[in-house]
Amino acid sequence: MKTLQTDDNPFEILDGDARCGLVLLADHATNRVPPAYDRLGLPETAFARHIAYDIGIEGLTRALAERLGVPAVMSRFSRLLIDPNRGEDDPTLIMRISDGAIVPGNHPITEAEWQHRLETYHRPYHGAVSETIGRVAAASGRAPLVISLHSFTPSWKGVPRPWHITVLWDSDHRAVDPLLSELAAIPGVLTASNEPYDGALRGDTMFRHCMKTGIPHALIEVRQDEIGDAAGIARWAERLAPILTRLNADEALHTYQIFPSRTGPY
Ligand SMILES: [Zn+2]
Repeated sequence: MKTLQTDDNPFEILDGDARCGLVLLADHATNRVPPAYDRLGLPETAFARHIAYDIGIEGLTRALAERLGVPAVMSRFSRLLIDPNRGEDDPTLIMRISDGAIVPGNHPITEAEWQHRLETYHRPYHGAVSETIGRVAAASGRAPLVISLHSFTPSWKGVPRPWHITVLWDSDHRAVDPLLSELAAIPGVLTASNEPYDGALRGDTMFRHCMKTGIPHALIEVRQDEIGDAAGIARWAERLAPILTRLNADEALHTYQIFPSRTGPY
């Protein structure tokens, strides 16, 4: 079981060659909550579950960044503290209830504490994402390709989720189409588009940093049990690295083009 980690850096940037034109993001890399929050009143076991972070994604992001030699930005705080993949005005930014359990440290919450978490965790993380995307764009002299990495639970409310890996998106299909084709071609791998959730989420990380700016992007979701141990992480890093390399090598992809969001006008 992953133990609860407690330092409070809001993000970690993995070094890589900015000229490569590719950026990896991991919004839900860790279950860290600063000690002062006393685990938000939850049992330690809650921090081993998906409600606290995306199981396997920190390892997969590190492995891919290293294999590809590209920069990555990872959050260093649990989504239970504040969810980096939600807009500042999203009502689920700080979850009062998660997967049926009340989060005592989040309910009730003062306006001052809400602001504190925005300023201490959420905004610095997004600042690091912006800065890294900008740095890669400047160094490569073209629109970067942004790949966001997440994981999902093998079942939800008793219903199994059959896919091994999926791609979530709003309306910019440029990186998504070739990615889905490549994933579908892996023997024994079941993939899907916009499963187990719809990728059109107003104010989320892809909306904010890519949809609004016309940067090509895709959000990859891996089923947690596929990357639940070092062998699984290594297997998926080995599969994804050449796919992302081929995707990133397509010069036509590296252009700015703003697509209308399915969530409404920008
Ligand atoms: Zn996630």
